[in-house]
Amino acid sequence: MARAKEPTFRESVDIMFARAVALMDLPPGLEEKIRVCNATYTVRFGVRMRGEIKTFTGYRAVHSEHMEPVKGGIRFALGVNQDEVEALAALMTYKCALVEAPYGGSKGGLCIDPRAYDDEEMERITRRFAYELIKRDLINPSQNVPAPDMGTGEREMAWIADQYQRMNTTDINGNACVTGKPVNAGGIQGRTEATGRGVQYALQEFFRHPQDIKAAGLSGTLDGKRVIVQGLGNVGYHAAHFLSTEDGAKVTAVIERDGAVSNDAGLDIDALRGWIIENGGVKGFPDATYEADGSKLLEAECDILIPAALEGVIHMDNAAKVSAPLIIEAANGPITAGADEILRAKGCVIIPDMYANAGGVTVSYFEWVKNLSHIRFGRMQRRQEENRHQLIVDELERISTDSSINWTLSPDFKTKYLRGAGELELVRSGLDDTMRAAYNDMANVWRNRDDVPDLRTAAYLVAIDKVANSYRAKGL
Ligand code: GLU
Repeated sequence: MARAKEPTFRESVDIMFARAVALMDLPPGLEEKIRVCNATYTVRFGVRMRGEIKTFTGYRAVHSEHMEPVKGGIRFALGVNQDEVEALAALMTYKCALVEAPYGGSKGGLCIDPRAYDDEEMERITRRFAYELIKRDLINPSQNVPAPDMGTGEREMAWIADQYQRMNTTDINGNACVTGKPVNAGGIQGRTEATGRGVQYALQEFFRHPQDIKAAGLSGTLDGKRVIVQGLGNVGYHAAHFLSTEDGAKVTAVIERDGAVSNDAGLDIDALRGWIIENGGVKGFPDATYEADGSKLLEAECDILIPAALEGVIHMDNAAKVSAPLIIEAANGPITAGADEILRAKGCVIIPDMYANAGGVTVSYFEWVKNLSHIRFGRMQRRQEENRHQLIVDELERISTDSSINWTLSPDFKTKYLRGAGELELVRSGLDDTMRAAYNDMANVWRNRDDVPDLRTAAYLVAIDKVANSYRAKGL
């Protein structure tokens, strides 16, 4: 029997999209209008360095402009290509719709190995790429707002924001042209941790629903659950850190570029992160077993598997061997459409990327709003809130003294209650609320419709429906 062919990332997104629209009743033509990528701009530019002119290729794809600006990260990686950027842009459209971030979908990428250049060279390359996009309004606070993605972070975002402001000196909203900036350059508290934090909130919400826990063949809470994380970059690190330090989960293995380390008693994630930064890989990390073929650990026994790096790491050749009953896609597209089918047939529950990693764009939304309103969240209310809480505490203490009832407020309660929320608390609260609401929108469709086999199809249904309604409202 001929073996089925492994779909590409782009094909995977299209297959998953098609599976969902087959269950919908969209007017003729609207399905195609939503599916196709509206435009992709390719740029090739030269930068003079090391005694020659080096030519780089970059992309910015705009998938859907049913809402503007369009939103999505810029990735710096050698494997970047047009198909990948377009698939990622499509995912951004659905992701934003699902979590109600008021944007269309976009994505950018530059073919480059960022580790091959020093800081000064990276700055020149990033600014030059940004220049090409800015002059075509492919970076613009009201039209297209990038953010960090693989290979980029707040440093690159600060360069892009500065480049935009140099080219648009009278735009008072210039800082809102990009999100994920450093806090001291117009960023927001909690953006760096946001995607990993969102993964934690997604799992916390999953574990609030007994029927969903049961569907995965699990029981109990996050406490004591064995977790395997693939990729200890920004997303994987924060997810692993929060789950192990705040929810009692045990990270039993971490898979990285140079192999994997495991320890059934749980790894110390912060120590491991420090080790990777110092030694360039996981090999040699004390108190752990090293395995050079890291991908083997994707198949190891655990309760929750978190692929948090590249797309396509779970494919048709290894899917049948993956034993995790619950997978949460912290990366974009880590499971191919072929693997998805194999896993579903085995009863594995997959919390899909479109929802699971939406914490990043959610906090990007908060940052953009902060930039447009030119004021930090909580600045007006915090002390007033504290004063009102102080009034209650004073009153309670007065009553207890006057009535000679023998009780006092515990100091811990007082400290917690008296502290008004700062920006970080507000960002986390907004993110938690978003992740809870989106989970229930998606999970209700999964639970209530017999023709919806999994959370991914449910997520696509909710997202496509929102995009379709927005096109309908526009009279398209
Ligand atoms: N690159 C992130 C993602 O894939 C964040 C996008 C954004 O914040 O605009 O969701």
